[in-house]
Order: sequence, then C-alpha cells, then structure tokens
Amino acid sequence: MSKMTLCFFVIRTCLVGAIRLYYAPMANPKNKHPKNVSGSFYCTDPDDKSGEGCIACNICYSGAPEFFAEDDSGNAYVKKQPLTPEEITLCEEQMDACPVSSIGKNG
Ligand code: SF4
Repeated sequence: MSKMTLCFFVIRTCLVGAIRLYYAPMANPKNKHPKNVSGSFYCTDPDDKSGEGCIACNICYSGAPEFFAEDDSGNAYVKKQPLTPEEITLCEEQMDACPVSSIGKNG
C-alpha cells in the first residue's frame, strides 16, 4: 500500500468518525422525565414529541438500580445522581447502552 493510499484511508476514517460523533443522537434536556432528581444525569420523558423518549427496555434500572428507577409505566427516571468516579462511570455505561439515547448527562 502506498503512502498516499494509506493517507487517504486515515483521513477518510477520521472524517467518518467526526461525522458520526456530530450526528449521534442525544437525549433532549427539554424533554426530561418529571420524576428525575435534579443534576446532570436525566432520562427523557416517554411522551417526548420527537418519539425518542424512553421505551421502558429496563436496561438502565436493571444495570444501575441505585441511580435509575422505573415509573408506573416502566419508563426510567434518575432517582439519585452519581457522585464518585465509579458511580459516574456506571451511569455513563447505562447511557451508552440505552437503545434510544434517552439518558443524558448535560442537564
Ligand atoms: S435504557 Fe433507555 S430506554 Fe431503556 S429503560 Fe433506561 S432510559 Fe428507558
């Protein structure tokens, strides 16, 4: 493989990564579930008009039950904000695992 071909693939890989990062779906802080405790982490309301709210898949409140809980309909909300680095990492893992990007941490 020539240097020019290698350079082309590196640039293309970087551009694709940047585009994916820019357009990655994010939880909308304007559509928070009403039962979230205040703080940076939150779940979006299942009635989010964009249709991207929680779908009650149970991943987050099964994976981190100390921080996420389910309402009467099975939709998630944040019941306790993480404080330690380990707790924050655990909540970030739930955020990454959420299939509909319904967890945010910019609240
Ligand atoms: S992981 Fe996402 S979709 Fe699943 S219950 Fe939690 S917030 Fe809802």
